[in-house]
Amino acid sequence: MGPEDKVLVLRPHHLLCTQGYSGKGYNEEFVDNMNKVVDRLRNGDDLIRITYSTDVLCSKCPNKLGEDCCETQDKVKWFDDRVVEYFGIEEKEYHYREIIKEIDEKMTGEMMDDICSRCSWYPISSCRKRIVQEK
Ligand code: SF4
Ligand code: SF4
Repeated sequence: MGPEDKVLVLRPHHLLCTQGYSGKGYNEEFVDNMNKVVDRLRNGDDLIRITYSTDVLCSKCPNKLGEDCCETQDKVKWFDDRVVEYFGIEEKEYHYREIIKEIDEKMTGEMMDDICSRCSWYPISSCRKRIVQEK
């Protein structure tokens, strides 16, 4: 599974992280992969398939322990569950740019705080600004 595959596989909360991403990540390999994936989502073929498991970004992450297993499993599952509940995200194919438009139209500051406040990137990233404020 890599950014060159036809359908990019993403877990639900990465529909948010890929919007807030601005070049920072866990290590060089993660950032290199993230750059490729985000560039394709923003500028290229944006067909994606949602999985409630580890995805194309996890595949190059130092926190991935195994299939559907992350170093911070409870936390990331919680992010995924919130995104699924708030936006009705299912395990199926979507066009990224269409689904993030829908999400961003519905997202409020309270919802974003609820989903993301346990994330260490939240205070220092552009996620909230890009998803909630830039409307
Ligand atoms: S704050 Fe964290 S969980 Fe929320 S969108 Fe940004 S990187 Fe993802
Ligand atoms: S921290 Fe966990 S959920 Fe996030 S990209 Fe890494 S392995 Fe995936």
